[in-house]
Amino acid sequence: MSDISENFRKVRARIEKAAAACGRAPEDIALLAISKTFPIETISIAIAAGHRLFGENRVQEAESKILQLHTTSGVEWHLVGHLQSNKAHRAVRLFDVIHSVDSTKIASKLSQSCLETGKQMPVLLQVDLSHEPTKSGAEPAEVRSILESVSTMKGIRVDGLMTIPPYLENAELTRPYFVALRELRDLLESEQPGCLGRRHLSMGMSHDFEVAIQEGATIVRVGTALFGERT
Ligand SMILES: *Cc1c(COP(=O)(O)O)cnc(C)c1O
Repeated sequence: MSDISENFRKVRARIEKAAAACGRAPEDIALLAISKTFPIETISIAIAAGHRLFGENRVQEAESKILQLHTTSGVEWHLVGHLQSNKAHRAVRLFDVIHSVDSTKIASKLSQSCLETGKQMPVLLQVDLSHEPTKSGAEPAEVRSILESVSTMKGIRVDGLMTIPPYLENAELTRPYFVALRELRDLLESEQPGCLGRRHLSMGMSHDFEVAIQEGATIVRVGTALFGERT
């Protein structure tokens, strides 16, 4: 129990230090605790310690956790993993933010579900900057046309961009991916002010979030450093 609260304290301190070092306000960086593979008991400890923002990567796995923990007020669930069309409806019912929209098709499915359920869903567009075959995400060149289509859709609103760089042991080597996402955001915003809503940059994980913060991350997605190694 104390371990997890202690991990949250340490990660928050690292966020504050990284923010201070580059002249940013720590309040502008949200810590999204990625609880995938961890049981409800573990998440409950984090909730008891005062944490409220959680991310999961699979709709199926998240469903029971979200339904069982929904009684705690103020808890927010973000979907950070790839979303298939046939799960869009459940994702809309369960989640508060979806980080992994990477096509007009999935956006349109989400919009339909939002209209049916009367929900307003903030989404981020996931951009593939690494071109690894296993990675999902839209090509940077496709993002403009997805944005244009989504702007006509009801129920969903784009609030920024998300990326998952390749895993590189040396966190410094992921910096170019974070720079690229920030530059893409700034370019799109300069072409069409307001098109990215709250202009979020969801980037940075356990081993590289300090670098991501230096490059403008507004949401860091941290799993291992908070909950320990996944089995
Ligand atoms: C698992 C996961 C994370 C967290 O990774 P850690 O290295 O454990 O911090 C962040 N983002 C996504 C999309 C993930 O799937």
